Amino acid sequence: MVSHASDPQNSPMSSNGSFWFDTLPEPSVIERSDALPAEVDVAIIGAGYTGLWTAYYLIEKDPSLNIAIFEANTVGFGASGRNGGWCMGLAWGIEGMLASESKREAGVRLLRAMHDTVDEVGRISQRENIECHFAKGGTLEVAIAPFHVKTMQEQMSHFHELGFSEDDYRWLPPADARKRIGMTPNHGATFTPHCAVIHPARLVKGLGRVVQQKGVKIYEGTPVTEMVPGRIETNRGGVKARKIIRATEGYTDSIKGQERQMLPLYSMMVATEPLPDHVWDEIGLADRETFGDSRRITIYGQKTDDGRLAFGGRAGYYFGSKRRGIIPADDPMVARVEENLRSLFPILKDHQVTHGWGGLMGVPRHWRPSVAFDQATGIGHAGGYTGEGVAASNLAGRILSDHVLERESDITDLAWVDDMPGKWEPEPLRWLGVKAIQHFGDKADRFEMESGKPSKVWGRLFGTALG
Ligand SMILES: Cc1cc2nc3c(=O)[nH]c(=O)nc-3n(C[C@H](O)[C@H](O)[C@H](O)COP(=O)(O)OP(=O)(O)OC[C@H]3O[C@@H](n4cnc5c(N)ncnc54)[C@H](O)[C@@H]3O)c2cc1C
Repeated sequence: MVSHASDPQNSPMSSNGSFWFDTLPEPSVIERSDALPAEVDVAIIGAGYTGLWTAYYLIEKDPSLNIAIFEANTVGFGASGRNGGWCMGLAWGIEGMLASESKREAGVRLLRAMHDTVDEVGRISQRENIECHFAKGGTLEVAIAPFHVKTMQEQMSHFHELGFSEDDYRWLPPADARKRIGMTPNHGATFTPHCAVIHPARLVKGLGRVVQQKGVKIYEGTPVTEMVPGRIETNRGGVKARKIIRATEGYTDSIKGQERQMLPLYSMMVATEPLPDHVWDEIGLADRETFGDSRRITIYGQKTDDGRLAFGGRAGYYFGSKRRGIIPADDPMVARVEENLRSLFPILKDHQVTHGWGGLMGVPRHWRPSVAFDQATGIGHAGGYTGEGVAASNLAGRILSDHVLERESDITDLAWVDDMPGKWEPEPLRWLGVKAIQHFGDKADRFEMESGKPSKVWGRLFGTALG
């Protein structure tokens, strides 16, 4: 069972401690709303991207609906208000589908839908005046060891065999790659234009404002403790709901009966002070491309609208799925991310890191997103993005809104639909499994970066642990 000792639900928080919340145009405050409604058509649990996109498309498609969102803290408190800001045209699980003969066609459809989703986020942000610094500069994945080059080039060829063009995915030889990103090591990079950068908190707060203007009610500081067909229970009493959507991602086990659905995995981030032009001349990212590299334990970065480098890395898991509402800047896992950043960009030696924070993301047992709505119980969910949900939550919200409204569309049968994960193992197996994945991945990455050779032993152990 989960430890609720540091559970954000215990005392609602108006900030999540991130650089993004710190740079919102207006400070985030918890709106103390009116009494709860007795009854609604649709109750959505969680005001992150998933809950808000679902509400957005529902109210757009049927303005007569009475929709309420119940949020334990404030809009965007979770991963949506603290992520790396990659609005990416890819999601967990798709590459695996492309590699499998039987799932390839469905994988290609999903990938094309994800490409379109990046543009959909940009289009809606513009249409609804959400100033979230959306800039579509694509993304670079840098080869950090010479032997990664062949695998990455083969991956590009595979995309081309599947019908994607050089305009969708291409290999940049070392000289071109170094012009675009002055990171060390850099043995060349893959590039795809299907990714945009955003200011995550501006997007989620903007969406909150927009859905409210369209008539959706948001009840902040209102954790949902239980959901059963036709009713939710909150800390402020019960509400009847014809339909219920769970959009709680890494916090899902805070609802009774939902334990072991989603594993909360932490990712940590830092942001530098605004960097002078001569530093950016060296670093590159002139088109505001996002960047990562070829190691197993993901790293990710972006140039912010105000000229900082925001950089993060997947970090850890706490025994018993313990959740931490806010991660302080002096957390050792945040310090490790800063170390990583400085080793990739020695030019930052005279420049300060001004912010450090972290957050949790939801990982389902099968490590890929799912969307489901059961017409019989009136209960549905979307999530399980495993740290890649900025764009995916928009597609999931669109799919879910069609299912709630019993409409068929060209996305209602995409592979995420009803692709339900199993439950996570009880502790201590869960903790041991995640620790093993992390340990083997770290070891393999370090070996490869230091030796320039493939890590056969650690690499194989990592693959086996990840399943
Ligand atoms: C540090 C970090 C970096 C990331 N970087 C990227 C990236 O660059 N690109 C990318 O695609 N993805 C990234 N992700 C993942 C991405 O942010 C998430 O996949 C996405 O935001 C999930 O949105 P969501 O609405 O499903 O969940 P969340 O944003 O977590 O929202 C869930 C909401 O539910 C509320 N809640 C929880 N329990 C209850 C309850 N019982 N009752 C009521 N409300 C409740 C929470 O307070 C929260 O506001 C990152 C995640 C982290 C943590």
